[in-house]
Amino acid sequence: MFRALFLNTCVLVALTYALSLTYREWPPGGSRLPYTRLLAFTAMGAALMSFPAEISPGVLLDLRVVPVILVTVRYGPGMGLAVAVPILLIRAWHGGAGVEPAVLALLSVLLMAALARRLGVTLQGLVSTQLRWAPVMVLPYPLPLLLLPDGAALFTQSATPLIVFNTAGLLICTSILVGRFQALGTLQRLTRQAELDALTALPNRRRLDADLARLGTQDALLLIDIDHFKRVNDQHGHAAGDAVLREVSRCLEAQLRARDTAYRYGGEEFAVILRRVDPAFLTQVAERIRQAVESYPVQALQGRSVTVSIGAATSDGLPDVVQRADAALYEAKEGGRNRVQTHPHPPVNEHAGTGSGA
Ligand code: GH3
Ligand code: MG
Ligand code: MG
Repeated sequence: MFRALFLNTCVLVALTYALSLTYREWPPGGSRLPYTRLLAFTAMGAALMSFPAEISPGVLLDLRVVPVILVTVRYGPGMGLAVAVPILLIRAWHGGAGVEPAVLALLSVLLMAALARRLGVTLQGLVSTQLRWAPVMVLPYPLPLLLLPDGAALFTQSATPLIVFNTAGLLICTSILVGRFQALGTLQRLTRQAELDALTALPNRRRLDADLARLGTQDALLLIDIDHFKRVNDQHGHAAGDAVLREVSRCLEAQLRARDTAYRYGGEEFAVILRRVDPAFLTQVAERIRQAVESYPVQALQGRSVTVSIGAATSDGLPDVVQRADAALYEAKEGGRNRVQTHPHPPVNEHAGTGSGA
């Protein structure tokens, strides 16, 4: 019996590890169990029943309750039942004297797992502070053996190893799944952090580069540089300068449509990707942003404002949009600051090259 239960544990652990690899994103599909994963848990139960400990003719012991507990604790008793029913049908198909106790055993374990879940037990908790629930949930499994004619002897012989192996299997599998969830959660958090600027909380240069690589032909780029920012630092201190960068970031974000994105390009420079913008209105949009900054009372400067120079360029499917926007920004600076310049120069247009000058 020990050999068979040990083999069962190995199969269970290997299959759970394989299943854990199917969780690829965080959160893993919300609280609903995807259909295919439901099948995988059921298949796991079926596979475990192929390597049972046959302690008496037709009485098969294995770790089939573990996938049912995992699903019940994580996804609820309804999902647990959806996994348990096919497992029981397969058990019935195997036949033997132990079919009825097997039904009773699995359903009572499912009830116990549902109760545990209701009392706040989670997979994460199961491998930390709620550890004692693992044997408790497994506890009803050997009890229905007592219904068999020679039940008392079978129970005495197998109850302890059954509880020990199932508890160990449950804890190992829970650790595998929880470890995977935590790794995915950490990865997602770090990925998000890696693409955010720590000072302004805007997407950073890394994110900008990734988004620029996917720029559509109708998209446009604005490079926005705060004018004479060095003076702000010199006159108000670096901390105030930092606060100005944060406030300007909020001002920029407030000007954008949901599909547009503002980035911190570096230092006191920002970038904006405008999605699907009509080139005829590019200067107008950039000008609106320039004016918004100019009229934005910056708290860190006691309500005074800063100005920005903006270089704009449409993507047009050409690779050098950054250089073109940068060249335009340079021209805006050269032209006196606090102004918008587009590149290539737009056709004569009442909004082109506007800017009130420094
Ligand atoms: P211009 O109008 O030509 O753009 O002049 P400027 O003073 O804005 O440009 P310059 O490149 O001479 O100076 C940029 C300044 O921005 C210098 C640097 O100390 C400051 N700066 C860059 N990053 C930060 C930051 O994170 N916090 C603060 N407080 N200052 C920063
Ligand atoms: Mg600069
Ligand atoms: Mg500047």
